[in-house]
Amino acid sequence: MDKFESCVDVLIVGAGPAGLTMATCLAKYGIEARIVDKRGTKIFNGQADGLQCRTLEIFDSLGFGHRAWRESNHMLEICLWNPDDEGVIRRSDRIPDTIPGISRFQQVVLHQGRIERFFLDTIAESGGHAVERGVLPFELSIDENLVDEQDAYPIKVKLRHLSEEEATPQQSATSANGAAIQDGLFRSNMSADDTQEVLEASKLDAKANREELVKAKYMLGADGAHSWVRNQLGFKLEGDSTDYIWGVLDIVPITDFPDIRMRCAIHSAKSGSVMIIPRENKLVRLYIQLTVTEKVGEGGAKADRSKINPDVILQSAQRIMAPYQITYRKLDWWTAYQIGQRVGTNFSAHERVFLAGDAVHTHSPKAGQGMNVSMQDAYNLAWKMASVVKGHSDRSILKTYQSERRKIANDLIEFDAKFSRLFSGRPAKDVMDAEGISMAEFKEAFEKGNMFASGIAVDYGASTIVAKDGSTKEQGDGTDVSVSTRFRVVSDQKLAPGIPVGKRMNSLKVLNQSDARPWHFQELLPSNGRWRLVVFTGDITQPAQRAKLESIGKLLADSSSFLQRFTPPESRHDAVFEVLAVHRSPRAALEIFDFPEVFRAFDEVDGWDYSKIYADDVSYHEGFGDIYGSFDISPEGCAVIIRPDQYVSYVGPMEDVDTLNKFFSGFMVPKGMSDRALDGDSQMRNV
Ligand code: FAD
Repeated sequence: MDKFESCVDVLIVGAGPAGLTMATCLAKYGIEARIVDKRGTKIFNGQADGLQCRTLEIFDSLGFGHRAWRESNHMLEICLWNPDDEGVIRRSDRIPDTIPGISRFQQVVLHQGRIERFFLDTIAESGGHAVERGVLPFELSIDENLVDEQDAYPIKVKLRHLSEEEATPQQSATSANGAAIQDGLFRSNMSADDTQEVLEASKLDAKANREELVKAKYMLGADGAHSWVRNQLGFKLEGDSTDYIWGVLDIVPITDFPDIRMRCAIHSAKSGSVMIIPRENKLVRLYIQLTVTEKVGEGGAKADRSKINPDVILQSAQRIMAPYQITYRKLDWWTAYQIGQRVGTNFSAHERVFLAGDAVHTHSPKAGQGMNVSMQDAYNLAWKMASVVKGHSDRSILKTYQSERRKIANDLIEFDAKFSRLFSGRPAKDVMDAEGISMAEFKEAFEKGNMFASGIAVDYGASTIVAKDGSTKEQGDGTDVSVSTRFRVVSDQKLAPGIPVGKRMNSLKVLNQSDARPWHFQELLPSNGRWRLVVFTGDITQPAQRAKLESIGKLLADSSSFLQRFTPPESRHDAVFEVLAVHRSPRAALEIFDFPEVFRAFDEVDGWDYSKIYADDVSYHEGFGDIYGSFDISPEGCAVIIRPDQYVSYVGPMEDVDTLNKFFSGFMVPKGMSDRALDGDSQMRNV
């Protein structure tokens, strides 16, 4: 057997949504990463399909939001169907699918295979390494003596390259007549841009049986619910392993049910419930929690899913949806699976090997969360890891991955447990029926759940990188991510109540000062690993505001400012921080030259930077964003620090540069300081 040895900054195991998000972000941030997957090809159809509005914001920041938006089916309304007094199902309510106004995107549906395609294309465009398929890790060790050394490679992983046969997943089940289920690999409607994947898989045999030792600085286990990496680290998933079995059918339906193109939750009187998800290309997904009589292996034994087939799922749907008829001629994909509501005990080992996605949380598919939360785990971690690998940030920020994401995973499981009970329960017969689920209760839970399910509600607790009140331990998952008192900073939220610290900043239109073009504010925050300082200057035709603007310009240009201390000398002026201004004066009353140079830096080759100064004013064609009014920003202005993942770290007085310096000194490494021992700030940080 051939043996090889290599080194890499980051090794990612698993090329599902979580692993691909990580690989994409790292490619964009310029970090060398390899991503391996035991399967010979990507997914081509089926599996996850719901994309929350926060996920679409993230896709947009990665440069492919428009592809998902255009190709997907948009879900605007949810119809609730319940039994009437005679037990016949009737539409009882309509509610918006996404709460109006929470995001510039609304929930959409597109199958996981297309989403993986967008990631793969973006990795290639960003110069990242392609996914290495048919590669299986089989040994992992971490040298604990090296874990605190900035540039060390403490992780050793042995990889084996598989043959094509080994890397091809077996068909997961067969239908009633013994025919293999469609797994999409050789479907006639296979997208043209997936063909290359299949061709690459057929070349695997040439490399088969090669063994490789990879030394890595950091590693991500994004290898799904049965995570090998998690098992190697000795970490567990804790929680319930429920008996619920979910049947899923992706069909082009033939039906007289009028709301088949709406998202529907249908509760029948006696036959259970179905969730209808209208999909792209006239597809419809039916999610059915199969009732006890359809389970095989009763009495506590794990149910035998192979006894479930598309006919069993369809018949169940027919019973729930009667008197409406439903059948199909085209079955695109189907599955049956049993799911537990569980969360990982640890999300990282030594802040060197991390776990993300299904490897650390599993739950039911009803609220369409799994893929979204998995990608958001990796999105949270990627910029932190990149910043540490580049030597911009101290390793201490890596602890916030577990404190922030494990809390989300716990919230998700709690939400799923509540939602599952309401979805699966039998409708109450009348007000005296305490066992049954009241439909008013169900509707209320649905409406409240929509805020959680949108991904917008995420609110990170106090830490080194979120300057808000309160104990860091209480607000996260219990992990200590506190900053030493010397660097402790607290926000003044009343200067901008609509820009909540810990949450992602919502988006409204602002106008570029130089060319009057309207931009959604979030479009100014692409995922490139950079921090943003946004100075809401107020109306700078007022002398008091102008004086503050001039003062902040001087202080930021001073060599003692965070901007000068933490940007490496050889880098572009905005390589680590972008400084943006949004003013409230009439656009036409100002020029960019009314702003200090730090907001319009000059480059010998590129000239002035025209992309950093914006007006909150009326546009010619796209109305008035009114960002000051909508976010209740004080006329005195304010300074807002936004993390590379668009979450707000700090809101404070516009002129208080000392506090900004203090905040960044809590975790950033001064330029040219490869040896942290020379740095007084770093020594103090852990005090
Ligand atoms: P996975 O997608 O499981 O990817 C893990 C990857 O790791 C795989 O490619 C696998 O081949 C690879 N791998 C595993 N072990 C190894 C190993 N030892 N070595 C190398 N590679 C390995 N989520 C939603 O958000 N919305 C939905 O509507 C939704 N619907 C769903 C419907 C169904 C039927 C199912 C099954 C799931 C659904 N989910 C949904 C959940 C969603 O699919 C998962 O939460 C999501 O795929 C998790 O992403 P991941 O990257 O963590 O793991």
